[in-house]
Amino acid sequence: MTPDLTRLLIARHPLIFPRGWPPRSDIGNGWFGLLDALCGELQAETERGGPQVSADQISHSFGRLEFDTRRHRTDLDDEQRGMIAHACATSTRTCEVCGAAGALVAIRRGGARTRCIAHADRGVDEPVPVLYVHVDSDTGHVIGQIVTGGQPGTIITATHFPKLMAAARGDECEEFQTIQLLNRDELSMVRSSD
Ligand SMILES: [Zn+2]
Repeated sequence: MTPDLTRLLIARHPLIFPRGWPPRSDIGNGWFGLLDALCGELQAETERGGPQVSADQISHSFGRLEFDTRRHRTDLDDEQRGMIAHACATSTRTCEVCGAAGALVAIRRGGARTRCIAHADRGVDEPVPVLYVHVDSDTGHVIGQIVTGGQPGTIITATHFPKLMAAARGDECEEFQTIQLLNRDELSMVRSSD
């Protein structure tokens, strides 16, 4: 993942990444949503009395997400094991570049990867634009910027609101393929890491 998304994931789930991003991780931006949701579920289980999960390695094996924990899963409860298994299974149907629906394909550089039709031959080191969106609670205005690909620093104004919200709901959006809704603190963090 690109550094901006990596920082966002760590900031949202500091207890799962107590030492920062795992030393072994080579996945694409498209799996951010999967990982973000998984980490949220794992931490919710911890708050219900389950063990604290600590990510040791995040990688892919033949197009499938691998989420390994520091203690080799021995400390996970059954709920957490199920959450990880489900996320890893879902990854084989999720484009690793953009997060759209995908399937396992063989790519030109060798190996199997999960890709949508548009990114069937694209490497994870060529990320599609990510648009960060923050909705100002006072004005209702949408504020955002593209931080990977596209035109860095582009400010999105209120006139984009209907289209952006439609895209954030998962509807088709041609201009941006990966959209993240942020709160105010997260928007500041992403901006400061440009
Ligand atoms: Zn894709």
